[in-house]
Amino acid sequence: MSNAPRRMPGGLCDRCVFQRLVPTRRSVFTMCEEPRMPRYPAVPVMRCPAFVPADGGQAPPRPAGA
Ligand code: SF4
Repeated sequence: MSNAPRRMPGGLCDRCVFQRLVPTRRSVFTMCEEPRMPRYPAVPVMRCPAFVPADGGQAPPRPAGA
C-alpha cells in the first residue's frame, strides 16, 4: 500500500485558477484563494460562482437561479 498523501478529487476546483493544493503528511487539501469563497471548500465542488478556468476555457453555464 502506498504511503503517498491521499488527495480527494476537487471537482471544479481542480480546473480553477484559484485552487492551491496544500500537502500535509497524510492528505492533500484544496485551498481557495478567491477571497469571496471559503478558504477550504468542501470538495468535490460541483458549482461555484467564482470559478475561473485555469486553462483559459469557458466556465460551465450557471444553472438557473444560481
Ligand atoms: S473559486 Fe470556486 S472553483 Fe475556484 S478554487 Fe475557489 S471554490 Fe474552487
